[in-house]
Amino acid sequence: MKRNKKSIYEPGKPQISRRHMTLNAYENAMRQFDQAVEVLGLKPNQVAMIRDPRKVIILTLPVRMDDGRIEVFTGYRVQHSIVRGPAKGGVRFHPDVTLDEVKALAFWMTMKCAVVDIPFGGGKGGVVVDPYKLSLGELERLSRRYFASLADDIGPDQDVPAPDVNTNAQIMAWFMDTYCMHFKRHLPAVVTGKPLEIGGSAGRDIATAQGVVFCLEEAAKCLSFELKACSVAVQGFGNAGSNAAKLLADKGARIIGISDVTGSYISENGIDVMDAIEWARGHNKLLTGYEKHAKVKKIEDPKAVLELDVDILIPAALENQITGENADRIKAKVIAEAANGPCTPDADEVLNKKGIFIIPDILCNAGGVTVSYFEWVQNRMGFYWTLDEVTSHLKRFMTNAFQAVYNASKEYKVPMRVAAFIVAIKRLTAAAELRGLYA
Ligand code: NAD
Repeated sequence: MKRNKKSIYEPGKPQISRRHMTLNAYENAMRQFDQAVEVLGLKPNQVAMIRDPRKVIILTLPVRMDDGRIEVFTGYRVQHSIVRGPAKGGVRFHPDVTLDEVKALAFWMTMKCAVVDIPFGGGKGGVVVDPYKLSLGELERLSRRYFASLADDIGPDQDVPAPDVNTNAQIMAWFMDTYCMHFKRHLPAVVTGKPLEIGGSAGRDIATAQGVVFCLEEAAKCLSFELKACSVAVQGFGNAGSNAAKLLADKGARIIGISDVTGSYISENGIDVMDAIEWARGHNKLLTGYEKHAKVKKIEDPKAVLELDVDILIPAALENQITGENADRIKAKVIAEAANGPCTPDADEVLNKKGIFIIPDILCNAGGVTVSYFEWVQNRMGFYWTLDEVTSHLKRFMTNAFQAVYNASKEYKVPMRVAAFIVAIKRLTAAAELRGLYA
């Protein structure tokens, strides 16, 4: 494959196939939803109002390539719900994007925004493309074509996209510019995850990890343990995983295992997380060769880190990592799901039987979308907050959300995941009923 030197992606970074991971994503989502619906005993028209996406957009995207050809890409945007506010959710660029995957992710966004009680519904977008094969110019033209094609369906009051797999602040800047050109007005709140210079929010880069840590602090209070006495393993050493490891190490926890696509790196004495972050920075964001630099043992299998004997396990890589196959070998007492969908429903059954306390993804990693909400608020006010202000607002939202879910798990005697869906579904049905959307 010929790579253009001007690509914004790091050269040599392995492109990860997601096809096996997204298998049945929509079915998994619906299984989780149906469990909560059963506990709540909802009426069929209540279910119909919140189960299926309100709008599915399929786009044909012609883009002029550098060699003069026109290549036609397929894009999607799914607005799952706008009952509680504009649709909100990222856009991913990946060759394995499917409509089912986008529908599942949009559904989870609706639930996530309701759990943290921010005034958004859920949405998600995707383009079927391997962006690593595009030049910078091709990537910009594709991004602008995608956003221009959606112009009438998105907007600060309709649908607010954000980054996701393989999209970043630069692409959000192109999205915003395309939209502002279209409507001839300055409308930065059409998209979040922008660079700071054009309306991004302080703290967005560590928001997801910070939210994970706020959840763990609440879990520690409810389950009577101390973070500083805990051992931790983290799968995935990207934005969510490396920042969560660092924040927990700062609180005195011992990080004994980290991993990324290159393998698992383990030290019973604790890993110097800042040193590992510096190493990854210098090695294309990967931990390649870290075992030669630090006193850590390397295991080739990146999933080995999941099975370490630790107090807290943080899956922060991909979907479907803990399944019916390996769930029985998980030894952690608490699992904090920084990744989306790291545990399959089959795994949940085993983990619940083992008494492992799971902080589910739609609660645990909601710090990211919460600070995206703050970015939207700041854009609309035209007044920007300090990092301390962002962090203190985030703490309030995450703490309230955790307590609501924990209380629901006690009230309904269900695991935290079902409880999170219960909290979300109750908020959604209340809003739908007040708006007169079902009888
Ligand atoms: P990222 O691309 O920055 O990092 C992903 C990490 O996972 C990389 O270190 C990669 O090497 C590693 N990885 C890939 N395959 C692996 C494997 N098989 N085993 C072990 N490690 C592997 O991504 P991110 O933004 O940190 O997102 C990670 C997860 O968190 C995703 O599920 C994402 O949807 C979720 N999430 C992220 C955010 C956010 O704000 N970044 C918000 C909500 C949810």
